[in-house]
Amino acid sequence: MGFEFADRLKKLPPYLFVEIDKAKRKARAEDRDIIDLGIGDPDESTPKEVVEALYKAARDSKNHHYPLDQGNQGSSIFRERIARWYKERFQVSLDPEKEILPLLGSKEGISHMPFAFINPGDISLIPDPCYPPYKSGTIMAGGVQHLMPLIEENNFLPDLNKIDKAVLEKAKIIYINYPNNPTSAICEKGFFEDVVIFAKKYNLIVASDAAYSEIAFEGYSPSSFLKVEGGKDQGVEFHSLSKTCNMTGWRIGFVCGNEKIIAGIAKVKSNIDSGVFNAIQMAGIAALDIADKHLERMNKVYQERRDALVDGLNKLGWVIKKPKATFYVWAKLPKKHKSSIEFAGLVLDKADIVITPGIGFGASGEGYVRFALTVSKARIQEAVERLRKIL
Ligand SMILES: *Cc1c(COP(=O)(O)O)cnc(C)c1O
Repeated sequence: MGFEFADRLKKLPPYLFVEIDKAKRKARAEDRDIIDLGIGDPDESTPKEVVEALYKAARDSKNHHYPLDQGNQGSSIFRERIARWYKERFQVSLDPEKEILPLLGSKEGISHMPFAFINPGDISLIPDPCYPPYKSGTIMAGGVQHLMPLIEENNFLPDLNKIDKAVLEKAKIIYINYPNNPTSAICEKGFFEDVVIFAKKYNLIVASDAAYSEIAFEGYSPSSFLKVEGGKDQGVEFHSLSKTCNMTGWRIGFVCGNEKIIAGIAKVKSNIDSGVFNAIQMAGIAALDIADKHLERMNKVYQERRDALVDGLNKLGWVIKKPKATFYVWAKLPKKHKSSIEFAGLVLDKADIVITPGIGFGASGEGYVRFALTVSKARIQEAVERLRKIL
């Protein structure tokens, strides 16, 4: 007897971190002092106001039921709070009932969206390197990925003019993600405008992943895709409280924008999950209430860590520009190294530091590694010192 995985699982891209994960577990088992700059999970705890809001809401039995509100998924007061946040933060008006949908983390919505819009053989345009659910969501829905390389010479923006006409005829969705994971690149408003024109021309749905819209430095404030003219006609934007308010474990995010696209995602979700625990949505309201104050402090913390890492590595001969947003540093390998997996393996073996090989995010990520700024500045300085010794 043997059970076979369905074809859709077999088609998922190979998980390239297997060797690194194995080596990491081994190092931990040997009690080595590992500095983990691998995973993008904020090290600090969730703000206490958010935790208190959960306590309070969890005690209230009216929150113990299926989280449906007038037949819609998501509490209407959370949706209204999101609308107010969008208006204040981006000057974009949204209808809380039709243009906003809470999610079990934005990953959930990102990977479920193709089930609503992709038929077998349809194409999603996906940046490479990228956050992996763009690919896996498309593949599980029976779609085909077409990769758009993000390269340094083009400021890690996709070159829309290079996409084949035959591909565009079958394309349904284009994913964009700025500020970007893993490259930490940002985009100007002009890029969003180009994407709207392009998407209109080829009748594409734009999925703008704004998970890092609030993690930015030195006065830079990332904008919203929905703010550009025609944005809402053409797409949706995914937000997450995971990075914004140190809430990765809570599983809460939201998607905003085009009514028809939101309705499609809601229909898929109503057949798979039954929405976010109401008490967590109440905590989400508290998170948006304190976000400004929290981010002012957190972004200073990330900026100091960024400076410690980039200045430190540049002194060792690396050539890295300081990112304006996200808590990642995307670094080209030092000259004599070519393979990002080999390099990450070496750094783990010799210096007990975990970093992510760029190729794990897609072929165009080869030649780079990603450092996550999710450990203290002192540990980052220690990591730089260890790298100095081995390189
Ligand atoms: C972390 C991350 C997300 C989503 O996180 P959730 O915890 O599912 O809300 C989405 N996109 C990118 C690019 C991310 O790095």
